[in-house]
Amino acid sequence: MGEVRSPAELTELFREQGLRVTPQRQCIFRLLEGNDRHPTAEWVYQQARSQMPTMSLKTVYQTLNDLAAMGEIQALDVGTGSARFDPNVGHHHHLVCDRCGGTQDVEVDASALKLGRRQRRDFTVTSAEIVFRGVCRTCSQASNETDMEDEAYA
Ligand SMILES: [Zn+2]
Ligand SMILES: [Zn+2]
Repeated sequence: MGEVRSPAELTELFREQGLRVTPQRQCIFRLLEGNDRHPTAEWVYQQARSQMPTMSLKTVYQTLNDLAAMGEIQALDVGTGSARFDPNVGHHHHLVCDRCGGTQDVEVDASALKLGRRQRRDFTVTSAEIVFRGVCRTCSQASNETDMEDEAYA
C-alpha cells in the first residue's frame, strides 16, 4: 500500500517544487487525505466548493494534475466515464461497480497470472492491473427493492 501524505506534507512538497500553495489547494489536499473512494475531479470540486465557494474547477484540475505529475496520486481510468484519482499509489487492484461506478481497492495475488509462451517472448511485462467488474452491495440492494423481475434474467 502506498503511503498517503498528510495535507501538511503535501503543502511542504508543493513549496519545495516552487508551486504556489493556496487555501484552495490545501482544501483539496484535505479532501484527498485518507480518501479511498477514488473521487473524480467533479466530486472533489463539489465537496471543495461547499467548503470554499471561491473554488474553481480549473484549480481542482490543476491541483490534481500537479499531484499526479508528482506521483502523489494516480489518475485512474477504470472505464466509468471520468478519470478517478487515487491517493493510494501502491500497486493494487480494483473492484468497479458497473451501475454506480463506485471503485474500491482490493489486494489480490496476481503472481499466478501468466502470458502464453509467445507473448512472453515478444513482450516484457512490468506490471498488471486487474479490474473486477460487477455490482456493489448498495446497487444490488437497490435493485432487489425496485426491479427484482427486471434483473432476474439480466
Ligand atoms: Zn454500485
Ligand atoms: Zn485504488
